[in-house]
Amino acid sequence: MIRHCMEERPFEACGLLSGRNGCAETIWRMENIEKSPVAFSMDSRHIQKALQKMALKGEALVGIYHSHPTAPPLPSPEDIAYAYYPEAAYLIVSLASKQPNIGCYRIVGSRALPLRVELRC
Ligand SMILES: [Zn+2]
Repeated sequence: MIRHCMEERPFEACGLLSGRNGCAETIWRMENIEKSPVAFSMDSRHIQKALQKMALKGEALVGIYHSHPTAPPLPSPEDIAYAYYPEAAYLIVSLASKQPNIGCYRIVGSRALPLRVELRC
């Protein structure tokens, strides 16, 4: 996920994570159709296709990630406004400092609640 975000610089990268029981097992690199350093969006047809492939693997959407090439890992007002999957964890990979920084949130309505990420799967 971090590698994908670094490869897409200076643009924001985005993608999906699928797995079971909230545990991410598969990464789905998606195209940022906005090709922007400060915004991202995914083609809804690409999302549908990925969701179908996840189902075939017996997995479900557990996370949605995107990068902030120059900003901290905090959700922007747009990130919150366009968060359509309340059951998914929203991960933001910040590349603003030397070490990548990951923020993880559950976004419900207009609120972003921080989530804990464990690297153990
Ligand atoms: Zn963002």
